[in-house]
Amino acid sequence: MHGTFMIGEFWTNIQEYEYRKWCAVCHEVETMEHILTDCPTESVRLIWDLARETWPHSQDDWPQVDFGTILGCGSLAITPPENRDWQNQAERNRPNLSGPNRLLHILISESAYLIWVLRCERSIQLKTHSVQEIRNRWLRAINERLTNDKIIATRIKRNGAMMMSVDSTWKAALSREWELPPNWMTDSEVLVGRRARNVRSRDEHVH
Ligand SMILES: [Zn+2]
Repeated sequence: MHGTFMIGEFWTNIQEYEYRKWCAVCHEVETMEHILTDCPTESVRLIWDLARETWPHSQDDWPQVDFGTILGCGSLAITPPENRDWQNQAERNRPNLSGPNRLLHILISESAYLIWVLRCERSIQLKTHSVQEIRNRWLRAINERLTNDKIIATRIKRNGAMMMSVDSTWKAALSREWELPPNWMTDSEVLVGRRARNVRSRDEHVH
């Protein structure tokens, strides 16, 4: 996989561009693993923090995110109740896990993709990003997925199965911020992070 992207060792034998082998932030060899999870740049930590903080289910279900988690993200699944030592009745009675699993896939795939996009802007366009900008772009990416889901459920497919899928994917996360009305799916203002406590209020530029 590393050979297919113009990162790290790809540049070793390209005259005048050998320096591109190294991460511009911390000067490690820049592999995809380094970019997505290992680089100490604050944007990596901030984005994975946002994903974990937005996850509305048990923190025990949130995976330790590494490169393997991201590559296998489509098949990640939280542990079914019968295989767990459940602490309380509410958890034991948790309904179908397809919604939480779907949210997990969305949070991990969108976060990884945004980290990659920001890295390219940083190293190719020499842009810097403030904490607030990173946070806004992350929320925008997640809310685009939510909005697409709502539109498909309420205007395109308009069937119960899709409504249930969208409901079980997003309702738990939205309920932490909203008193959800019954018709929340048709309300374009009901988004993630609109009423969120300010996770980080600093606004300096990060690398
Ligand atoms: Zn780095």
